[in-house]
Amino acid sequence: MTLLAHDHVVIVGAGLAGWRSVEELRRHGFEGRITLVGDEVDPPYDRPPLSKQVLAGAWPLTHTLLATPEKIDVARLELRLGVGARHLDVANLTVTLENDDVIEGTHVIIATGARARRLPWHQDSFFELRSLRDVRRLIARLDELSAGDVVAVVGGGFIGAEVATALQRRGLRPVVLEADDLPLSRVLGSTVAQWLGDLPERSGVELRARQRLAGAHYDDAGDVDVLFDDGTTLRARALVAGVGAQANVEWLADSGLRLDNGVVVDSNQLGAPRVGAVGDVASFPWSDGTHVRIEHWQVATDHAGALVRHWMSGESSPRLIPYFWSDQYGQKIQVLGHPHPDDDVVRVKETDDVHWLGLYSRADVVSGLVALNQPRALMLSKGLLEHPTTLDDALASAPWGS
Ligand SMILES: Cc1cc2nc3c(=O)[nH]c(=O)nc-3n(C[C@H](O)[C@H](O)[C@H](O)COP(=O)(O)OP(=O)(O)OC[C@H]3O[C@@H](n4cnc5c(N)ncnc54)[C@H](O)[C@@H]3O)c2cc1C
Repeated sequence: MTLLAHDHVVIVGAGLAGWRSVEELRRHGFEGRITLVGDEVDPPYDRPPLSKQVLAGAWPLTHTLLATPEKIDVARLELRLGVGARHLDVANLTVTLENDDVIEGTHVIIATGARARRLPWHQDSFFELRSLRDVRRLIARLDELSAGDVVAVVGGGFIGAEVATALQRRGLRPVVLEADDLPLSRVLGSTVAQWLGDLPERSGVELRARQRLAGAHYDDAGDVDVLFDDGTTLRARALVAGVGAQANVEWLADSGLRLDNGVVVDSNQLGAPRVGAVGDVASFPWSDGTHVRIEHWQVATDHAGALVRHWMSGESSPRLIPYFWSDQYGQKIQVLGHPHPDDDVVRVKETDDVHWLGLYSRADVVSGLVALNQPRALMLSKGLLEHPTTLDDALASAPWGS
């Protein structure tokens, strides 16, 4: 099946994966109609800088824009912003919007991403960080604060750590409240979490582990008492929650697509013959026979490329190697592959405590790489994941260099 000039591709979700789908369609020579529907009012923008340069005050919001008016023009795009989709009919390839408009396509791409997960005791006064709207709201509050004011950051994962770093750069005093013994242990495993464990302290950020939060009380000035289950409190000028994300799939409930922690797709990103899903919302097949949903910038880009290539040429793409980075506490963490937290891990190419490469392995086969401030060594080692490589062979060949 090749996309032809009379085809109409309807893309739902105007984030990175939706925008990359537009770019890939035109790059591969698709001449037909493209409609991009997004529930946010902002045209497609990049999220990673929101918790880094933008929150730290180093970049204006405009630096995050992906879809400039010129690019939208060149892409000959029909853009429907500020209105969400509420239903997909897979048999008829129609998308119904919240305002009851119905868009009829010949192909549909689902790119509705994920939203910030909320604490059981969520309140409207909490700040979260997923969208431009969120960052505008948070910055407006931070602008009211003074140097040294305490901001509670709930969750010491990637977003929490980046938020704390940015708050510190603004002269504020973040206090990171982590539920587990160590941040990131559920993602990177307890060994790597230990290796990274002293990064907050090294940078002068207070991290409190094993925090059992029970609620929050706000006063009229917007200040907050964070409540713990042992009766203690932490007084803060703001509370930012960074406790994970969940896929935006509710609008697909009656679509007939298989939903399981995301839209279940095959290795060409297809959930149905003319319906694909890409990016954070897609649950795609992994080499161990399971399906995974991976919230990485590069994965969203790779998914869009794979789906469009398949529709334009019938070709399947090679299995993607997920890549992720995080800038936190003045250091750069990078991960290649999709290691399981239970995988074994050894440290190589170590020059000091903050420059090393970690090799994950499962059943003695390399399953992932994690680097702290070793970007070149990481990329030189990517080949270890392109074909099954035993740990012994990896250690013998040492592609990361001396
Ligand atoms: C603050 C932050 C920092 C990050 N930093 C990094 C990083 O350093 N490295 C990294 O690899 N990744 C990072 N990520 C993750 C990365 O940004 C995501 O993987 C990427 O944005 C996924 O793109 P997406 O298009 O699939 O989803 P999204 O970016 O979530 O876009 C989905 C869009 O669809 C819209 N939508 C949802 N439902 C509907 C509906 N029913 N109708 C219409 N529109 C709808 C949403 O509002 C949104 O605009 C970060 C994410 C955040 C939030």
